[in-house]
Amino acid sequence: MSIERNSEAFEQAPINWVPAIVLLSTLFLAIAIVPWYLWTHGVGMGVWVAFAILMAWTGLSITAGYHRLWSHKSYEAHPVVKYILLLGATLAVESSVFDWCSGHRSHHRHVDDEYDDPYSSRRGFWFSHMGWMLRKYPSGQYDYKNIPDLKKDKLLALQHKYYGFWVIATNVVVLAMIGWITGDMLGTFLIAGLLRLVLTHHFTFFINSLCHMFGTRPYTDENTARDNGLLAIVTWGEGYHNYHHYFQYDYRNGVKWWQYDPTKWIIGLLAKVGLASNLKRVDDLTIKHAELTMQFKRAQERIATGGEPSLDERLAAFKERISAEYDEFTKTVEEWHVLKAKAIELKRAELADRLNEADEKLKAQLAQIETKILEQSKRVEQAYLQLKGKAI
Ligand SMILES: [Zn+2]
Ligand SMILES: [Zn+2]
Repeated sequence: MSIERNSEAFEQAPINWVPAIVLLSTLFLAIAIVPWYLWTHGVGMGVWVAFAILMAWTGLSITAGYHRLWSHKSYEAHPVVKYILLLGATLAVESSVFDWCSGHRSHHRHVDDEYDDPYSSRRGFWFSHMGWMLRKYPSGQYDYKNIPDLKKDKLLALQHKYYGFWVIATNVVVLAMIGWITGDMLGTFLIAGLLRLVLTHHFTFFINSLCHMFGTRPYTDENTARDNGLLAIVTWGEGYHNYHHYFQYDYRNGVKWWQYDPTKWIIGLLAKVGLASNLKRVDDLTIKHAELTMQFKRAQERIATGGEPSLDERLAAFKERISAEYDEFTKTVEEWHVLKAKAIELKRAELADRLNEADEKLKAQLAQIETKILEQSKRVEQAYLQLKGKAI
């Protein structure tokens, strides 16, 4: 989808009434009424438990459902999982799956473009956070050409067609049921309904706004997306947005073992019990390659501008280099094991006539591995010397 590159059309975009009223009224009501109600009435434990469960259900339905399943097809889910995610995402009130995914695919395709990225961070914090939904900007008018796969799904089409009804019905029915269980209808609607809705909204919006402004860019600096561990905490792991923009088809956003990505853990768990399959992952070597390429790029830029890297930066680069060399070394050792096993196999088979010829081949391959290891150890030594030389 290409939008007319016309700034006037942006400036004169008419108000998008329904989303504007819903987004602003829920926000102001939550700010005004929730603290007052908590102060004067208070709510019981049951309401807080319902709040926590609904936060998790609706939040994860957006991340594992709308985002990683439907927008990126990074895994396949059992129909039961799909129903639960679709219901949770509808409770989150973040527009239909068609609108969300069509906009999101455009965002990835045209990231940062002022005209084609529906929540372009180039238009500032407010626009990328929620301003883009308050008016009918040209970039927000989707033709759904980029979601042919989703349009085939009858249930998703139904959700899109009757979206308003779905939103009201699901929220009213689910909250009334919970209110009946907790025995505090108003408290349930205010805390597990309103407050949860507003928090889930803005945590999601942070990905488009803050995650394109603050954080690190370990994989690419070709766009504004950042990795931000703090935002990962409130977004069920979606804060590793630089990685995500570079490897969008990976079902993980936080790929390091220490990164907080509960959405990834849940998808992994679902796969273990047979409710998810075909989880797409980028292999470690490709990831490492992207990281190293960025580090080299930064180092070159620094050399070009004459800036001296700090000791911390040098240490970080050194650590990265050593761990890359170590991975390489592990691979070489594995190759060596395979070759050794082959040699034993050959001897066992006693193919006396072919043994000589095969032996020569193996010897050559072993020699190659030996050279590889030697070169590696030289590189590691060099890295040490460089670090020591600069550190003094
Ligand atoms: Zn995405
Ligand atoms: Zn983004």
